[in-house]
Amino acid sequence: MGRVVGIDLGTTSSAIAVVRGGEVIVITTSEGKRLPSVVGFGRNGERLTGRAAIEQGATNPENTVYGVKRLLGRPAGDAEAGGTSTSFSSLRSGPRGDARVYIPVAGKLFSPPEIAAHILSRLRDEAEAYLGEAVREVVISVPAYFGEPQRQALKNAATIAGLTVRQIINEPTAVALSYGSGQSHTSTVMVVDLGGGSYDVSILDIREGQITVRATSGDTHLGGTEWDSLIAGWIAATFLRRYGIDLRRQPTAWQRVYEAAEDAKIALSTDEETVIDLPFLAASADGPRHLHLTLTRRQFEQMAASLLERLAAPVESVLADAGLAPSALDAVLLVGGATRMPMVRRQIEMLTGQTAEIPPQPDQAVVAGAALQAGALAGEVEEVRLRDVTPLTLGLETVGGMMSPLIPRNTPVPVSRSQVFSTAEDGATAVEICVLQGERPMAADNETLGILRLEGIPAAPRGIPQIEVTFTIDENGLLRVAARELLSGAGQTVFLAATTSLTAQEVRQMVQEAERCAAQDLVQRNLVEARTAARQVLYLVERNLQRANGEIPPPLAERVMRQVRALQQALAGPDATRIRHLTAEVQQASSAISSLILLEHTRPSEREQ
Ligand code: ADP
Ligand code: MG
Repeated sequence: MGRVVGIDLGTTSSAIAVVRGGEVIVITTSEGKRLPSVVGFGRNGERLTGRAAIEQGATNPENTVYGVKRLLGRPAGDAEAGGTSTSFSSLRSGPRGDARVYIPVAGKLFSPPEIAAHILSRLRDEAEAYLGEAVREVVISVPAYFGEPQRQALKNAATIAGLTVRQIINEPTAVALSYGSGQSHTSTVMVVDLGGGSYDVSILDIREGQITVRATSGDTHLGGTEWDSLIAGWIAATFLRRYGIDLRRQPTAWQRVYEAAEDAKIALSTDEETVIDLPFLAASADGPRHLHLTLTRRQFEQMAASLLERLAAPVESVLADAGLAPSALDAVLLVGGATRMPMVRRQIEMLTGQTAEIPPQPDQAVVAGAALQAGALAGEVEEVRLRDVTPLTLGLETVGGMMSPLIPRNTPVPVSRSQVFSTAEDGATAVEICVLQGERPMAADNETLGILRLEGIPAAPRGIPQIEVTFTIDENGLLRVAARELLSGAGQTVFLAATTSLTAQEVRQMVQEAERCAAQDLVQRNLVEARTAARQVLYLVERNLQRANGEIPPPLAERVMRQVRALQQALAGPDATRIRHLTAEVQQASSAISSLILLEHTRPSEREQ
């Protein structure tokens, strides 16, 4: 059986892990165990991920996409409302009202799965480099609150990245898997995951060989980013008051503010007070303006009061859905980077009346669980049965614009439910079935997943035709809808295409595009790496020249200057091999200079001897 890996695609950072010899190994990428979920489109058409994307993003914000997970499977309007405050690229509406991202340097719209695919393929490349073998199959985790279109969009992203999704598992289930593996007694735990862009609360039963999600709730628009926004907003308001300059209108400055805001937030998890220093933040008629502010934890906690309040509803809702009092919980587990804020921990402890537990590696709990499930599918570790529940009620629109539920939320999956409906008008030969997801009684207040048109119904007075609608959710939480007219038997079965998902044709095109780009991307990445190495060497040689302070023999100095100029010229061009070659030359010269400097420094003591 082939190897299956586990991936945690996070809003802010992502990770990949495998099971080897029964042990979970979270792969250390060239950027550590978590890779920033950022994709950048460089000015020369190169596609960058992780830190490289963040770095070029400082001067190229409109071609840099942050938090793409928040856009997956979302209608354009919803994505805007959701506050993709860390995404500086422009959101547009796709052909079916789905969110698309306009990338000026490419001059085109990208769908969120296409962008997410870059992160997935980077992770895959890192895993392949580590394992020394091809990786084709994955288990990917999603927030429990992810609805149908979001899951489908993630699957599309994997397909575009050339990966086959063996299973989609909910993140809290993954946490429970990594927490509960090797545990024999039964326990009921609450998993609270506050990451960068989403908040999930679930209650699970962990038993030997089986994990059951009993209830799940959350908020897809609440995460650490909202805390960053508070600090960034406070900085902007202070700056505006002091200097009359609106930082929000200056993308580069605004990005620096955002990064500083996140650093301050993280610092305040351990320190009582932090200093925010941003020199040369903006220019005014009176010269450059610097920012120097002190923020205390107390002030920060006061600012965050309304965010803390938002933590309550999902906790109350899962307890009610599971029919449990907080005291019935055996443990409250905190995962996700943002739960490290003392105020969050305190709030959860207040809401549950329990001391919260933080697993040894809270950042790795999700990916470890995904890898364990991947290992189980590949037959490497013993299988734990997972039973998930549907996160939201699924139903259809009936007369008067009402939502008629077919599968209530928190129903264990896989599940299939049918119900018979009829026509509302005399002689109707076709009906439109509007598939909805959500908890509100009026159809318009819920999310429309798709509209399915059933034709060929024999004309009859209203109420006579018998239309059976079947909703089926597979173990990945993916929904299929079928409709059939029973009396005539002449009905047809139609499958739902979620309105906000890509069509199969589009996915195929994107796969081809990604394959076509792969070779080019490799060339570009190679070039970027060569340039980065060259700049580093140029910096070193410059520093060495300064330190040598004119003490270098003229022939060596001339040769170095010539080589430096050649390298600077090559840097502007696209020839990575030439850049590497010249870099090696400058590197050698630089070492020669630094040994001269060493010699200079040791001479006096030699003289003393
Ligand atoms: P996701 O899975 O959504 O990508 P993570 O679980 O990796 O998110 O958490 C990322 C969030 O956690 C970010 O908002 C980050 O700023 C925040 N974070 C990380 N470490 C800390 C810390 N020590 N204190 C406060 N917030 C933190
Ligand atoms: Mg996460």
